[in-house]
Amino acid sequence: AKRTPGTSLAMAEQRFVQMSRDTLATEQALRKGIRNHEFYLEYQPKIDAASGKLLGFEALARWFRPEVGQVSPVEFIAVAERTGLIGELGSSLLEQACCQIARWRSELGACVPVAVNVSPVQLLNPGFPQRVKALLEHTGIPAESLTLEITESAAVDNLEDTRQQLTVLEELGIKVAMDDFGTGFSSLSMLRQLPLSTVKVDRGLIEPLPAPDAVAVVRAICQLAAALDLEVVAEGIETLEQAITARDAGCHVFQGYFYAKPLAMAEAGAWMERLYAE
Ligand code: C2E
Ligand code: CA
Ligand code: CA
Ligand code: CA
Repeated sequence: AKRTPGTSLAMAEQRFVQMSRDTLATEQALRKGIRNHEFYLEYQPKIDAASGKLLGFEALARWFRPEVGQVSPVEFIAVAERTGLIGELGSSLLEQACCQIARWRSELGACVPVAVNVSPVQLLNPGFPQRVKALLEHTGIPAESLTLEITESAAVDNLEDTRQQLTVLEELGIKVAMDDFGTGFSSLSMLRQLPLSTVKVDRGLIEPLPAPDAVAVVRAICQLAAALDLEVVAEGIETLEQAITARDAGCHVFQGYFYAKPLAMAEAGAWMERLYAE
């Protein structure tokens, strides 16, 4: 059927109204979900490229909405950021991660490191470092067991504020990883200007491995990271071939479906019992 411009404009308008309505619905649902403790974490193993040992986990937010089902974090984190609910949600998730580290520590006798994603809005909140410090004290976990994963976009837009916040966190002994590196607005000098311990090479750069041009890019990132004394994590490893190529290019740590999907807390605990370094 042929559409007149008038019709397609009306349709666009309708879509816009629907989109705003969805956002609204999700914001209310988000508030309710936070109140009802519907948010929880899954834990994806991080593997040492040299030894195959478990090095720790990345905590990933999950939301099971009764009557709707599982909602993707890509979706609800964006709404939480837009509506300002990310502070409350992020604090709750960070607290869950620290409590889990403490629980594993007392149950299994080993302190397994966990990385938690922090949104730019959350990181740039002036009270954030103090809140993290209080959480460490409250749960009694060592600062070294916590890594915060931040994204480039935060740092690019507010380099000086980001640097200040990260400096306070670094002084507490917390590690910081630059997430999704190599996509978007990467600035190489940013790696030097921020107190980081880790760079995570984005899945988009790992996926085409072992294509020679992709290998060249990953190798260049690893060389830069080595010069700056940063650990390199390869994200989204799905095949053995990708793992071998990434290791040979200089990546130190693997994360991806080839090893494990994000796991429920109990499954992650079982991995720990089996694989965590003695
Ligand atoms: P991310 O931080 O880059 O996390 C990695 C994403 O890749 C996760 O998706 C993970 O499940 C997925 N993944 C891991 N290995 C593979 C693989 O081998 N293949 C493929 N195709 N995917 C893989 P997820 O859990 O859907 O999370 C998506 C994004 O949502 C995260 O990307 C992060 O940006 C955001 N996010 C998740 N949890 C949180 C959180 O607690 N706070 C904040 N601020 N953001 C979060
Ligand atoms: Ca991440
Ligand atoms: Ca990532
Ligand atoms: Ca990503």
